[in-house]
Amino acid sequence: MKPRIATIWLDGCSGCHMSLLDMDERLLALADRIELVYGPLVDAKEFPENVDVTLVEGAVATESDLRKIRTVRENTRLLVSFGDCAVTGNVPALRNLLPPDSVLDVYEVAPTEVVPGLLPVRPVHHVVPVDLYLTGCPPSADVIHETLLALVEGREPAHLAPRFGN
Ligand code: SF4
Repeated sequence: MKPRIATIWLDGCSGCHMSLLDMDERLLALADRIELVYGPLVDAKEFPENVDVTLVEGAVATESDLRKIRTVRENTRLLVSFGDCAVTGNVPALRNLLPPDSVLDVYEVAPTEVVPGLLPVRPVHHVVPVDLYLTGCPPSADVIHETLLALVEGREPAHLAPRFGN
């Protein structure tokens, strides 16, 4: 059975997913060996059960992110913090220099209906246990490819960052 792979995008710029697409023709070879079950490239509305590997781009910055990452963790065997925003908070965490709701002051009429509640920005492992850390802003396509290939083949990926405390 092919490994079930998902990707998800929390508070990030999409650059990590763009780097994933930069694998170019290697994506086609990989696509034959995996089942991509969720992510921006898949038309699935709900995060599925029994996912083998999920790449999580972005930090946890809103109540919506928090709900999503808890659902992802409950349904994922190997959770990968994918890129520096997920690993450290990175750029989104600059918002922590201000009180959370003060960033809404830039709006003449602050949106209330469609903006999820803002939380202090946290790296993923501050919220749920993380199994692997893929650093870089973004991680290069080569590193992403080697990591996914290793996971599909049951090897330890070569490009592992030191573990952070969960
Ligand atoms: Fe964007 Fe860099 Fe964050 Fe990835 S790590 S989401 S490229 S800012």
